[in-house]
Amino acid sequence: MDCLGGNSWFSSLDQGKAYHQEFMSKGSKHLTAFVTPWGLYEWVRIPFGLMNAPAAFQRCMEECFEDLRDETCISYLDEALVFSKNFENHVQDVRKVLQRLKEHGIKLKPSKCELLKPEVCYLGRIVSAEGSKVDPADTDALKSPKEKQPKNIGEWCYESQLPDSKCSGPSEWKKYFLRCGGLNQSPINIITRKVMHDPNLTSFIFDGHEDIFNMSVENHGQSAHFTLPQSVRLRGGGLSATYKAVQFHLHWGEDGGQGSEHSVDGKRYPMELHIVHIKERYNNLSVALNDSTGVAALGFFFEVSSEKNKKLDRILEALGKVRHEGNSSEIEDFRLADIVPQANTLSYYRYSGSLTTPGCDQSVVWTVFQQTLPISKYQAV
Ligand SMILES: [Zn+2]
Repeated sequence: MDCLGGNSWFSSLDQGKAYHQEFMSKGSKHLTAFVTPWGLYEWVRIPFGLMNAPAAFQRCMEECFEDLRDETCISYLDEALVFSKNFENHVQDVRKVLQRLKEHGIKLKPSKCELLKPEVCYLGRIVSAEGSKVDPADTDALKSPKEKQPKNIGEWCYESQLPDSKCSGPSEWKKYFLRCGGLNQSPINIITRKVMHDPNLTSFIFDGHEDIFNMSVENHGQSAHFTLPQSVRLRGGGLSATYKAVQFHLHWGEDGGQGSEHSVDGKRYPMELHIVHIKERYNNLSVALNDSTGVAALGFFFEVSSEKNKKLDRILEALGKVRHEGNSSEIEDFRLADIVPQANTLSYYRYSGSLTTPGCDQSVVWTVFQQTLPISKYQAV
C-alpha cells in the first residue's frame, strides 16, 4: 500500500477462483491425497486449505507481474491493484497488466473487478489519490447495529391488550429489538412491601396544566398520541431537571380487559395513562433517549367507578375517530388539569426504566401514581 502515494487512477482486478486457477506440480500431487469411500483422490489444481498454498500462490503472482510489480501494480493473492498518475498512463498500465495475466493463463472475474476509477476498494480499504482509508461500510455495522423486525411488522404487542392475537409479547421482543430485554425494562410489577421510602421524592410542580390549548391526536399504529404543547412542564418530584411535555397516550385492554402496562402487587388496571416528557434542553424524543434520564414518564392507572368520568369523554371520542394507523383528529380547548389531578395531592412510586415498547430504550425516569383515576365500566369497553 505504501507505493500508492501520488497516484490518482486505479483499477482492481480480482480472479475469483484464486488457487483453483493454479496447478499442483506433478511431484506434489500425492501430498494432497484424500480417501473417500469411492477411492483415493489427488488434487490437480491447488486446493483451498493447504498450509503453504497462500505463500506459493503469492510467489507465483509476484513472478507473474515481475517488472510491473510495485511500478504499475501490486498484488495480494488473487487481487491485483493497478495504479497510475494520470488517465492516459492508466489505460496503458491496465493493458500491460491484463496482457501479462493473459500470458500466464490467469482469468479474472469481471463482476469483482473495478476499472479506471479515481477510488476503488482494495483488500477492504478505500484507495484514492488521498491515500487509503477504512471502508465506511465495514464500520456501519458497528455504528448502528441493525434491528430485525418481527416477521409481521408491527406485530409486537402486550398479550394482555390483545389476548387473541398471535403477536410477539414482551418476552420475545429481545429477539427482534437489540435494546429490549435489558436490566431496567419497563413496565414492572410494583411489589408494595419492597418499596422503599425516599425523602428526596418531593411533590411535583406541574406547569401549564391549567392552560387551554388545541391538541392533535394521531394513530401511530400501536397507540394514539395526543400531542402536548411545550408549555406543559414537569419539575420537582425528585427529578434532576425540568422536563417538557411531548405527548400523552393510553393503554387499555380489549373488551374491558386489564390493559394497564404496570401492575401493583400483581394487580392490573383496565387502563393506564402515560404522559411523556423530555428534558428541556432536548429537541425531540429520539435525542432524549440517548440520555439515561432523558425522558420522564408519568403513569396513572384508571379504576372502574360507578360514575362516568365526563372529562374523559372527549379523549375517548377522539380515539374513536383515529381507529386506524395514520388517522388524526383534533380536540379544541383542552386542559390537562381536566384529567390529571393537582400535583401536590399525589403520592407516587419512582424507578429507572425504559420505553415500554420496542426499541425499549433504558432512558426513562418512571413515576407511577398511587391514586387512580375513575373510568366507568361503559367507558372502559
Ligand atoms: Zn405508554
